Amino acid sequence: MLEINGKEGGGQLLRTALALSLCTGEAFRMEHIRAKRPRPGLMRQHLTAVQAARDVGNATVAGAEPGSLTLEFTPGAVRGGDYHWPIGTAGSTTLVVQTVLPALWMARVDARLLLEGGTHNPLAPSADFMVDSFLPLMRRMGLQAHLRLERHGFYPAGGGAVLMDISASKAPVPLHVPERGEAIGMSVTALMSSVPGRVGERELDAVRRRLPIADEHRHIRQAIGSPGPGNALMVRVQCSEVTELFTAFGERGVTAERVGERVSEEARAYLASGAAVGPYLADQLLLPLALAGGGNFTTQAPTEHSRTNAALIEKFLPVQIDFDELGEDLWAVTVSA
Ligand code: ATP
Repeated sequence: MLEINGKEGGGQLLRTALALSLCTGEAFRMEHIRAKRPRPGLMRQHLTAVQAARDVGNATVAGAEPGSLTLEFTPGAVRGGDYHWPIGTAGSTTLVVQTVLPALWMARVDARLLLEGGTHNPLAPSADFMVDSFLPLMRRMGLQAHLRLERHGFYPAGGGAVLMDISASKAPVPLHVPERGEAIGMSVTALMSSVPGRVGERELDAVRRRLPIADEHRHIRQAIGSPGPGNALMVRVQCSEVTELFTAFGERGVTAERVGERVSEEARAYLASGAAVGPYLADQLLLPLALAGGGNFTTQAPTEHSRTNAALIEKFLPVQIDFDELGEDLWAVTVSA
């Protein structure tokens, strides 16, 4: 059983371990789970990821309780089919998708996943990010999958839903994204649920002052079916090789202008770097590239998430992940077998 110290990471380390364990058939024991977080141990959204991994991989699990600092996970055979995981809170649906997707892909099975919870959460990929940024790159690697946003769900009410269809796909092939390619266009969308439209207008104005986005590419979109209030401001940068989506969330005590400024700064930093992918996509690409046995991309300065994720991937798989600085806020990431 592989021993993993969870102390240096958060929920992502656990999800990556689950995904890798399902793909390799190797059991693991993780201690000190989320030990440095304000509320350490397994929280509800992490438990849903464990549950999903257990279901998909017919796994034996010990320690899957709220607050648990230790988890043992022994995977069995991965099965396709229909799954339904209600997270029950605003816990991120997409993070659960990312936990089981690699195993279903590697097992080359058909599956339909229905997840209920948050679809637009701070600190997680939004459903829009999955559709616009993450999944198109996965499809280039051979994945046949489609994610549909059924209902929006925001923190804290949740109540959103995504439906993910996966078709038996060919094994992943390496992905090379050294450059983002030609600029195709930029747009901004203020997603609103029970928030006055004026807030969205102010957010779009704040973005307009910082990014060259034409009027016809500035949108206000009403969220569908969200039981609670919420507001996400998303800047989409579309290039021929990759589409990046940056998101900031409206929250109590933060002005619409500040929300606009935050998302613009993220997009501007990405644009100025010249990198192919931003920091979030970077940590999320490492696992699929490692499963494909190779690939490379350029990105901004590697985050703690990318470093810890890379170190864990190297424990499970016979790959090496190198981070090389090319210039100011520009790095090359290479995954090699
Ligand atoms: P913890 O609560 O223990 O800190 P967590 O389960 O909330 O952990 P993280 O471990 O922080 O989650 O992992 C978050 C994941 O979400 C990372 O893969 C990161 O790339 C992704 N992510 C965070 N923010 C965004 C964003 N704005 N757009 C896309 N992806 C994002």
